[in-house]
Amino acid sequence: MLEPDATREAGGTRPGPEAGRDPGPLAEAVAALPDLDGRAVGFDLDLTLADTRVAIGAVYAALAAETGVPIDVDAVVSRIGPPLETELAYWFPPGRVPAMADRYRAMYADVAVPATVLMPGAAEALDAVRDRGSRVVVVSGKNQADTERTVAFLGLPVDEVVGGLFGADKGSALRLHGVGAYVGDHTGDVDAARAAAAVAVGVATGAFDADALRAYGADVVLPDLLAFPGWLGAVGDGAARTG
Ligand SMILES: [Mg+2]
Repeated sequence: MLEPDATREAGGTRPGPEAGRDPGPLAEAVAALPDLDGRAVGFDLDLTLADTRVAIGAVYAALAAETGVPIDVDAVVSRIGPPLETELAYWFPPGRVPAMADRYRAMYADVAVPATVLMPGAAEALDAVRDRGSRVVVVSGKNQADTERTVAFLGLPVDEVVGGLFGADKGSALRLHGVGAYVGDHTGDVDAARAAAAVAVGVATGAFDADALRAYGADVVLPDLLAFPGWLGAVGDGAARTG
């Protein structure tokens, strides 16, 4: 659990709803004042660090072409995050899902990975974490091999990569690697942070806007990772004042 005295200047509590007031990302950060000293920072991959919309869309388009099953690729990429089998079940009967998942994974490295690009601010966010001497841990719902391939393709400087986990199931990996704050675009990432008693940092770069992430219970909501170094810096300043 985070040090409670780190929140003293903000009144000793986690940030509350504050009756509709929007204090902005930096004010929220100071209100949260997590003590991250010695803790790693965790990041989700898809639509947090990696823009996989075109990449994943291309695999679904290929599946549709191979099978003749019409797939609304725009709908697919509008809800990236949950496990592959969950999405495939929208398009294929239960009995075909395992085979389609195998086919999807067989194509992913060649079709999707090379079409993946960084989200704005991703490189700067990881640099900010490493500059303060903290470790970077990526925990993704994508399978382990393709999570590793994506991180390598993008050249992300990370210390640990864990794939194949979604929502609260990510909590075990976050605890194992000493993650004090977990950054993600999906409400499932808020569940992940909660499960590890980590600060839940939402970035409104996926299916959920800032209001939705805040309403779901994210401790801090940033518009995108371009705002992350400022947040992390404010956390450091706040910890220095209260420490
Ligand atoms: Mg995501």
